[in-house]
Amino acid sequence: MREMGVRGVLVYCADHRCGHWTTLSADRWPDEVRLSDIEPRFTCSACGRSGADVRPDFNWNKPVSSAMGYR
Ligand SMILES: [Zn+2]
Repeated sequence: MREMGVRGVLVYCADHRCGHWTTLSADRWPDEVRLSDIEPRFTCSACGRSGADVRPDFNWNKPVSSAMGYR
């Protein structure tokens, strides 16, 4: 996934009524791992359901300074 420039991922609970989501750094996985490979490995910490929708987070490297207006 890193070939796509993905440095972080957005992880959404597979149960859309739950709506729990989180962000993670993709650095923990080897380059050849695909998002579809890691989706079944997640378990929602809110509802306990296993499986997740994983999307690339292309804003991972967005500087906090610009996001927060820090001078
Ligand atoms: Zn959930």
